[in-house]
Amino acid sequence: MKVLIGGGSGFVGRELTRVLKSKGHEVTIISRQPGPGKITWGELESGGLPPCEATVNLSGENLMNPLRWWNESYKKDLFSSRINTTTTLAKAIAASPSPPHSWVLVTGVACYKTSLTARYTEDSEWMPFDLFSTLVKEWEQAGSLPEEAAQKTRQTIVRAGVVLGRGGGAMGQMMTPFWLGLGGTLGSGRQPFPWIHVSDLAGIITHTIESPPSTLSSAVPQVFNGVAPALNTNYEFTKELGRVLRRPTVLPVPEFVINALMGSERGVVLTQGQMVEPKRTLESGFQYKYPDLRSALKEIVAS
Ligand code: NDP
Repeated sequence: MKVLIGGGSGFVGRELTRVLKSKGHEVTIISRQPGPGKITWGELESGGLPPCEATVNLSGENLMNPLRWWNESYKKDLFSSRINTTTTLAKAIAASPSPPHSWVLVTGVACYKTSLTARYTEDSEWMPFDLFSTLVKEWEQAGSLPEEAAQKTRQTIVRAGVVLGRGGGAMGQMMTPFWLGLGGTLGSGRQPFPWIHVSDLAGIITHTIESPPSTLSSAVPQVFNGVAPALNTNYEFTKELGRVLRRPTVLPVPEFVINALMGSERGVVLTQGQMVEPKRTLESGFQYKYPDLRSALKEIVAS
């Protein structure tokens, strides 16, 4: 099958490309930069959707970019990099004379209100309540296909938790301080820490692409929570990573320090969290390779 991946050059996209190619699929990446195996967003807009059976969007300015100060320009880029690319792809799919059978948009669990006790599944009702939930709302709306196009193309949304894996994402930024024995809980540590191993996120996307149309309706976007079935707190994550690395984790980072460094609006993604269950993901028959923290972190650290 031919798969077109917006933002496929990134952390999740590289793993998804590896998984898809290992299963014999062909991958073309949509990027801001031209290159082999790529088309640019400009080429997509001018030339229309290239022939493909599945389209995925993983594009977006990095929320944890250490080189960028938290300000209005950064926030604008977080929104536009996701919403413009998603709108462009949804329009190209709707205008295509031979549209793909599958359209997968990866968003985030920030739509669910942070809480120490509430549990959320894909069926949970939610309303935007802060910057990031507003982002998810607008992002998912941007991906929605008009009715006629939705009859031909199955729409799937995967709401990802913190993606853990080698060479990027959260682990890319956390490994060095933890190796140095400087790791510790963030804020109270009691906040839920919804996470997923990058191989499992790539696996869920592949699973939805490969599922026959009859098993996943396309009338409205089908949502899958892209999180591991284990429900963990930041404290549990911190202690498990310390155990796997054999390093102490006795230096908590107070909430006010995180807010001062990252901006309090962005700091919530570290100091607060949501308990998110992958109910529909499990019901769909997806088998996790890394359902618990220990197996996920061991794989990441060992390699
Ligand atoms: P990356 O940070 O690796 O970025 C993915 C790609 O987005 C990049 O390779 C780049 O492609 C493109 N991109 C970056 N900035 C911009 C921009 N300003 N405008 C247009 N395109 C841009 O993302 P991940 O792979 O970590 O995540 C994939 C998706 O999953 C993202 O949408 C992210 O929001 C979402 N997600 C990720 C989580 C995580 O923990 N990693 C958690 C929850 C959701 P190029 O340079 O080729 O144009």
